[in-house]
Amino acid sequence: MAYYATTVAKLIEEFQKMPGIGHKSAQRLAFYVLGLSTERANGLVQAIQEAKQKVGYCSICCNLTDEDPCEICADTYRDFSTICVVESPADVVAFEKTKEYKGVYHVLHGAISPMDGIKPDDIKIKELVARVAKGDIKEVILATDTDVEGEATGMYIARLLTPFGIKITRIAKGIPIGGDIEYADEITLSKALENRVDLS
Ligand SMILES: [Zn+2]
Repeated sequence: MAYYATTVAKLIEEFQKMPGIGHKSAQRLAFYVLGLSTERANGLVQAIQEAKQKVGYCSICCNLTDEDPCEICADTYRDFSTICVVESPADVVAFEKTKEYKGVYHVLHGAISPMDGIKPDDIKIKELVARVAKGDIKEVILATDTDVEGEATGMYIARLLTPFGIKITRIAKGIPIGGDIEYADEITLSKALENRVDLS
């Protein structure tokens, strides 16, 4: 005998594919959704569909946005000569919360990871190099995570950008080794940015 009706099992399976969701959480989410009124369930579906239709990559920084260029790239008060390179849109949010950083960003959407089959071409590295090649960039701050993949990705990018003769820095101090930028608190992140190390 199956534990669940096929449609319920399918719903659990879909939730379980989401990051950080194990079987128990997937089960909880599925039952939560099934307990929603038809109206709220439709609202949820609609929110997903709308986000999928309207949200895309910013043509400048590759962050997720529903307007192109994104709000940050369209802000004329930002310093466009400084690019902070991060792994995910959540990292942009983390840096923005510090209210210290006035430059712009580049979102890689991942890190190079041979173990997971993620190659340099699978993330937005080409786009970053093209952006730097256009000129007018003074500094690239590598703010990838401090785990093995993040460090390797940072070093790979530093090597690619060296021929452009710009300043290349790596945030370091304060972020624990193996740490996720996304989860660093604002003071730690501000300090890490302030004490960035010159690699160029
Ligand atoms: Zn942008």
